[in-house]
Formats: sequence, structure tokens, C-alpha cells
Amino acid sequence: MLFEPAAEERAIIDVVTRFVDDDVRPVVRDLEHADAYPADLIDRMRRLGVFGLLIPEAYGGADVSIPCFALVTEQLARGWMSLAGAMGGHSVVAFLIREFGTRRQRERYLPRMATGELRAAMALTEPGGGSDLQAMRTVARAGRDGFVVDGVKTWISNARRAGLIALLCKTDPEADPPHKGVSVLLVEAGSYQVSRDLSKLGYKGVEACEVVFDSVPVPADAVLGAATGAGFAQMMRGLEIGRIQVAARALGVGQAALDDALGYAQQRETFGVPIWRHQSIGNYLADMATSLRAARLLTLDAATRLQAGHRADMEAGMAKLFASETAMKIAMDALRVHGGYGYSTEFDVERYFRDAPLMIVGEGTNEIQRNIIVRQLIARDRH
Ligand SMILES: Cc1cc2nc3c(=O)[nH]c(=O)nc-3n(C[C@H](O)[C@H](O)[C@H](O)COP(=O)(O)OP(=O)(O)OC[C@H]3O[C@@H](n4cnc5c(N)ncnc54)[C@H](O)[C@@H]3O)c2cc1C
Repeated sequence: MLFEPAAEERAIIDVVTRFVDDDVRPVVRDLEHADAYPADLIDRMRRLGVFGLLIPEAYGGADVSIPCFALVTEQLARGWMSLAGAMGGHSVVAFLIREFGTRRQRERYLPRMATGELRAAMALTEPGGGSDLQAMRTVARAGRDGFVVDGVKTWISNARRAGLIALLCKTDPEADPPHKGVSVLLVEAGSYQVSRDLSKLGYKGVEACEVVFDSVPVPADAVLGAATGAGFAQMMRGLEIGRIQVAARALGVGQAALDDALGYAQQRETFGVPIWRHQSIGNYLADMATSLRAARLLTLDAATRLQAGHRADMEAGMAKLFASETAMKIAMDALRVHGGYGYSTEFDVERYFRDAPLMIVGEGTNEIQRNIIVRQLIARDRH
């Protein structure tokens, strides 16, 4: 294995693994079909320290390594992808504040974020588009007492329960190139309006919302790291960990689907033998396990590179691309292995099939990941 956690990190991963097996898996199907917010499970995640994984110990967090963070995320997603989603954007914002925040921003937000008392969301996507971020239309105009923000963000996960939004917006709409006019503002809840919850295929229980900023006043010291115009670069770094987190979510969904398929293939008999003995079914299982292992190695490779402080956009993109496509394929093949029961809402396989596509689209679509990968391939190949 690429990464062997130290004893302390192993203990954290084990605790979360037990939480998933004992407390999440027995209730997930009911919560999923009720599309119910999992308040009790989120509360237990808070007590387990999940919201403080990336926060330095000085601010009350666990400060685990990025590979450990990925493995904890995988465990949560193995139980229910929605739980891993509930700590995903929050963790990216914690990473951004830890890496780029002013001392005052770190002291104001990180201790409460570590306990999960304060939860954070990240707002990049707009109704006009999520891929072409430099074309965004949300603008923060500087005045005497700070900024006034106008614009609409959409598909913002956890927006209703977040007390803080890391908002990507333009502080200089005329800048050339446009990314030099982009900043991240740390905007506290109460000033903006969460206008509606968006209905979705999967990722149930956790809200994704449209958020309206209508002449919202924001103090001047809300600019992340007091670095006006540096927001695009800051967010791109944040998205490296965001994409590793999404890859890890895909690993969890893929692992759950493989586990269920393995179990079912040993119980279910046709033609007098367990179905895994039919070569077609056996081949599905072998391919699922092989591609899942490759996806895990790619994810840990990207996490290890980011942990070492290197640029990891290509590696995070590869991990997110491969792991999400793998999860989708494994979910589909697990459905085949289950025959008609794979289509039943009384089994979990249909949920994996609905959850897997989010990892293909979210945190930058896989088409965008390929663009990033090829640009880096060319840049790193120049002699
Ligand atoms: C459940 C859910 C939760 C989400 N949570 C968040 C969140 O918390 N915060 C947030 O900011 N966003 C969030 N998103 C938004 C997500 O990141 C965007 O949907 C995604 O980035 C794509 O943007 P878009 O939907 O506007 O698609 P578009 O940008 O309109 O793209 C449409 C299609 O064109 C392709 N395309 C576009 N440009 C190119 C190009 N240059 N090259 C090749 N193909 C291209 C895309 O890959 C896609 O296939 C969430 C989305 C969902 C569904």
C-alpha cells in the first residue's frame, strides 16, 4: 500500500469505520428514502472530530495527514455518500483558511469549525455556469466600509446549515486576465438569502441550494488572507484537496457496491452453484476489485503529493476522474450482479447507482479534469 497510517491516524480511521458499520449502515436506507437530514449522524460525526480533521491542533483540530483524511472520507462514503458530502466543502474551507487566512481569520473561524459548531460551505458555481469560473458574474464592489456583494450562486452543498460561506467573486470585474480580479470572501450567514433547495437524483438528506446575494454588505477584512485578487489561485489550491475528497467519496461508493456484490454472488445460486462461479459474474467481481484498487492507489498518490506540499492539480484530477468513473462502473456492475434485485429500492445498490454520478460532475466535471491533466502534461513536458 502507498500509505500506511501511523498508529494515531489508524485509530481515527478505525473509529470512523466502526461508526459506519454500527450506526450508519443499519439506518441509511430509511434516511435515504425519506430524504431526511441526518441530524443525529452529523452530531455524532461532530463528536468524532470529523469536521476538524484538517484543522491544526492549536485551533482544536486533529490535523491529520491528507492521505488519512482521504481514508476517513472513504469510510464515511462507504456508509452513505451524503455524510462524506456534508464534511467535504467544510473541509475545503478549513484548508483554505488554514493555508491562506490571516491570523484573525484563523482565530475567528477555525476553533468553531473544528468542533463542527460552525459549518462552512463553498460557493463557486452560478446559474450561468460552473466550469467557466472566470466568467462568473457575482461582484463585490468596494466602498468606504468594505464591499457590497451582488450575484447568485447555485448548487451550494450544505448552504442552509452553514454559518460561513467561502464566496468566489469578482472584486475587479475589469481585470485582465479576469482571474486577477477574483477574490474569496468569507461571508457569514444572516446577510445572504438561501432562496431554494434543489431537487436531485441522489445525495439525499443533504441540501444543495441556490443562494442570493442582494446588496449584501461584507466587511473589508473578509477577504481571505487580506489578498484581494488572489482568490482564483487560492481556490484552485483548495480544489486540489476538494478533488481528492471527491475521489475518496467515489472509493467509498465503489467499495460498498463491491462488498454488496461479493456477498450476493456467494449467497445467490442458479444452475446449482453460487453465481460467482459463472465466469461472467466472476469476471465482473475481478474487474471491480482491480479498478477499485487502482483508483485507491491514484487517490493516495495525489494525497501524498499534496501532503508533501507539491502542486497536485494533475494528480488530484487524475484521481477524481478515474475514481469517479470507476465508482459509476462498479455501481452498474453491482446492479447487474444483483439481477432484478439491483433495481429494487429494498437493496442499497440502486443508491450507489444514483450517488456515483455526482462524483463525475461535482468539484469540476470530468471533462474539465481532462483539460487540466493535458495542460499539465504539456507544461511538465517542456524542455
Ligand atoms: C449535488 C451537487 C452539489 C454541488 N455542490 C457544489 C458546491 O457546494 N459548491 C459549488 O460551487 N458548486 C457545487 N456544485 C456544482 C458543480 O460543481 C457544477 O455543477 C459543475 O462544476 C459543472 O458546472 P455546470 O453544472 O454549470 O455545467 P457547465 O459548466 O454548464 O458544463 C456543461 C457541460 O459542458 C462541459 N464543458 C464545459 N466547459 C467545457 C470545456 N472547456 N471543455 C470540455 N467540456 C466542457 C461540462 O463538462 C459539462 O459536461 C454541485 C453540483 C451538484 C449537482
